[in-house]
Amino acid sequence: MGEFELIDRFFKRAARQADVGIGDDCAIWTPSPGHQLALSADMLVEGRHFLSTVNPRDLGHKALAVNLSDLAACAATPRAFLLSLSLPRVDEHWLSGFSEGLFTLADAHGCELIGGDTTQGPLNVSITVMGEVPAHQAIMRSGAQVGDDLYVSGHLGDARLALESFRNTLSLPQTVFELARSRMERPEPRTALGVSLRGVATSMADISDGLLGDLGHILKASRVGANIEISLIHHLMLTSGAWSCPQELLQRCVLAGGDDYELVFTCHPTRRQHVESLSVACGTPVTRIGRITADPRLLLLNEDGSVLPNSFSSFDHFA
Ligand code: ADP
Ligand code: MG
Repeated sequence: MGEFELIDRFFKRAARQADVGIGDDCAIWTPSPGHQLALSADMLVEGRHFLSTVNPRDLGHKALAVNLSDLAACAATPRAFLLSLSLPRVDEHWLSGFSEGLFTLADAHGCELIGGDTTQGPLNVSITVMGEVPAHQAIMRSGAQVGDDLYVSGHLGDARLALESFRNTLSLPQTVFELARSRMERPEPRTALGVSLRGVATSMADISDGLLGDLGHILKASRVGANIEISLIHHLMLTSGAWSCPQELLQRCVLAGGDDYELVFTCHPTRRQHVESLSVACGTPVTRIGRITADPRLLLLNEDGSVLPNSFSSFDHFA
């Protein structure tokens, strides 16, 4: 099968929202009047971002999910994407699984594949996603205000738990492993919540490298600090109720795990009920974990107000 047959068979579909989709030198696409474009690219490399054994359907899902998560973090509505694919060989079974996982998620979020590039080489999946947001309503990292509440969406830490299990650094009960693995391999981008927080959240980012690191980007851009109440993070791990996870491990996975694709955002405290109702409407739980401070440090507080030493930056090296 040649390059063009491959594209026709696995990636070309009738253009929906695009003026011109796959097949010409450029795709042509008209943004809605009064909107700004939100653009982001993310590349997944075999061995670094995924294991060679991963199911192609899950890889198709995740490659787009991590990009949609960036759009959600800016409160942008997904519209279209480009797919650049490097493949060692034409494997029809792999391609049909991959494209199925990709298109199922794309359709669920109204995001259309409008072009890309295909070449032979080491397995590498690169997606550029395009969204739109009403002019000047994008939520950036720089808007957090002193006194704002600090929230995270969904669940944190499970993907890291699965990764450590794959690395054989810990052993999990089978049901816990399966649940954690699905969080690692099939993250759900928080599109609905991100978009609904327009005009409500003062700052937002998605959590791809771990809560403390990604929150750190917000604090730096906003020139503020934060207090996180440790007692408020203990239920964030989806699997925490299903086994007796050692507290130290739980804290490390939640605070510095990575690969979560949840949202971290800030809101004025008068918006608490509003945030709660948006969370219910979107079907995405949110947890208030602390607040923004004028003190530029990021502090972890115990229930008695004492400060927990933050040794979590070294987490990357635990093996
Ligand atoms: P060109 O050489 O003019 O850049 P290509 O021959 O690489 O174009 O691609 C032909 C068409 O197929 C283009 O419209 C391109 O956007 C599209 N395309 C190529 N690879 C992919 C892919 N992996 N997914 C979607 N569209 C693709
Ligand atoms: Mg061309």
